[in-house]
Amino acid sequence: MRSLYFLLLLGIVVSACSTDSKESPPNILVFLVDDMGWQDTSVPFHTENTPFNERYNTPAMEKLAAQGMIFTQAYSNSVCTPTRVSLLTGMNAARHRVTNWTLRKGGDQEPRHPYLNHRNWNVNGLSPEPGVTGTVYATPLPAILKNAGYHTIHVGKAHFGAMDTPGADPLNLGFEVNIGGHAAGAPGSYEGLDSFGNSRNNAWDVPGLEKYHGEDIYLTEALTREAIAALEENLRTGQSFFLYMSHYAVHTPIMADKRFVQKYLDAGLDQKEASYASMVEGMDKSLGDLMEWLGNNGLEDNTIILFTSDNGGLSAVARGGEKHTHNRPLSSGKGSAHEGGIREPMIVSWPGQRASGKIEQPVIIEDFFPTILEMAGIEQWETVQDIDGISFAGLLEGKKMDYSRPLFWHYPNFWGPSGPGIGPSSTIRKGDWKLIYYHDKRDFELFNLAKDIGETKNMYKEKAEIADSLARILGDYLRSVKADMPYDSSLNDNVPWPDQIQ
Ligand code: CA
Repeated sequence: MRSLYFLLLLGIVVSACSTDSKESPPNILVFLVDDMGWQDTSVPFHTENTPFNERYNTPAMEKLAAQGMIFTQAYSNSVCTPTRVSLLTGMNAARHRVTNWTLRKGGDQEPRHPYLNHRNWNVNGLSPEPGVTGTVYATPLPAILKNAGYHTIHVGKAHFGAMDTPGADPLNLGFEVNIGGHAAGAPGSYEGLDSFGNSRNNAWDVPGLEKYHGEDIYLTEALTREAIAALEENLRTGQSFFLYMSHYAVHTPIMADKRFVQKYLDAGLDQKEASYASMVEGMDKSLGDLMEWLGNNGLEDNTIILFTSDNGGLSAVARGGEKHTHNRPLSSGKGSAHEGGIREPMIVSWPGQRASGKIEQPVIIEDFFPTILEMAGIEQWETVQDIDGISFAGLLEGKKMDYSRPLFWHYPNFWGPSGPGIGPSSTIRKGDWKLIYYHDKRDFELFNLAKDIGETKNMYKEKAEIADSLARILGDYLRSVKADMPYDSSLNDNVPWPDQIQ
């Protein structure tokens, strides 16, 4: 308003066109990487440069970090679907009960725990319609954005709902365009020459993209070209866009992106780790291409970019080298309640609203929902669900959020692989303290993350008062959202709440 007044003082006639561009809501680009770890980047998210920062090459992320803010303590859930449902609904996983990854309708494809059973989780994921068995019914974020006038584009991995349910198709969730997204959480293949898996005709076939079948092109590149084509199409309308650019990379199958792999082999990495690093760099090129397109089209000053990953870097299986070390200095990886499973590389660029630098206040994936709505300037919105997330938009304007806010994770499912922090659990972080409650043995780990980011020293016995206090807050929260605790066949009862353990 002040600038308008200033312009009028100067006697400049403000055209309808420039007024429109001033008032049009910002474009929003969510750039979500799959299974990318906190250290899978040349951008330092730790207090010091690490060997992994030296290994990986992510120049576009460096550029984004230079123009935006780095979040050093950003969290997701430890596996795919819970995070994606939290992002689209603003709900914590304990509340939405989509606590594990989804695929087949009614099918809970996870391995069986010897004595814990948790049949009540939402095996079919997110549903935009009420009454669908095994789903959480919620108002999805893109539907609200669409109703507010945004053009909503989904590109890449969806993984919101099980096959043959409404939530499997992004077009049912408020997206107007869907490129390559469906129920599955991984591609059959990253190779165009392999038709992205379509030669095998199974659940993992990437849908659409037929024009690239038989072509020597990597999936990340094909998705990026299609995303840009969709943006080009939208450019003609002048409508603000919400682009959900959700790469399948760097999820398994770990397959080399030939454009980038040689330098990692030359650096001495084994084939698997060199391939992984090439997938990371291919993902980064996609970010760079999108940023370049925004710049070339004069949209960079009116486009907010939010970059993050849906869980920690895979480390328990399928990687080269020693297990559980791929996210160091963090412990463990995907599937774990330890930091390696849940802490994410996150960068937000909000032109005109930022002070460059680092934000150390912890944020969690369900915060994206109210944040994006606030950034879009949408003040009146309604959902059928209760929201757990809190907008972090203020952090980007230099305000402080309440650092003592507790954050919660709830993963009563049995992932399969074993390792540090892996197993059915509920977790709370408050301030620097983090308490993990393991459902199977009813034991706890308490860590001070400020002093022990690697979660090496369990302080549970030493700091019993802190542990008790956190267990009470965690128990109260889980009860308040009617969280599903597993049934223990050895007890003939549900696993007790964390504050019921003496
Ligand atoms: Ca994932």
